[in-house]
Amino acid sequence: MDLIRDAIRTIPDYPKPGIQFRDVTTLLSDARAFRATVDLLVQPWAGAKIDKVAGIEARGFILGGAVAHQLSVGFAPVRKRGKLPHETLIEEYELEYGSDAIEIHVDAVEAGDRVLLIDDLLATGGTAEAAIKLLQRAGAEVLGAAFVVDLPALGGAERLKTLGVPVQCLVDFDGA
Ligand code: AMP
Repeated sequence: MDLIRDAIRTIPDYPKPGIQFRDVTTLLSDARAFRATVDLLVQPWAGAKIDKVAGIEARGFILGGAVAHQLSVGFAPVRKRGKLPHETLIEEYELEYGSDAIEIHVDAVEAGDRVLLIDDLLATGGTAEAAIKLLQRAGAEVLGAAFVVDLPALGGAERLKTLGVPVQCLVDFDGA
């Protein structure tokens, strides 16, 4: 885990004062750390009969794509509003100031699909909760949500557990 933790760069006060931005681009550029990260994200699900991996834009695409490849399953992109070309399902969620929305294609998953959700970082859990709701509205069963980083102070893991979705995080960092 130190290999992974040490490969994540912290940018203080980005994108605004008081936020410690946990930058995984340095992890992605480190071959050993990237490989170890994907291996650890895949491990719990190797025998779980996953049908599809869903990844949240944008860093969740990189990690989720690698996890899907490793599990030999397809990949479903969860994107910011307005980016997907075909018919979509949309879910709004609250931000500190205002709201945002994410979408999936209506045919991104099939009813009954067993889906694993991937993103780089779990903060308040608002984005992941919206993604889980979208996948469930499309008829999928979300078996778990996996992240490289957890910020436990922001309560995201608890929030997802109340939805009945098991959460796996590889490392955690203090603060916001
Ligand atoms: P949330 O919906 O609050 O769980 O926020 C999660 C999303 O925001 C993820 O897609 C993260 O990439 C991004 N994010 C939130 N806080 C941070 C942070 N401190 N460092 C890096 N990314 C963050």
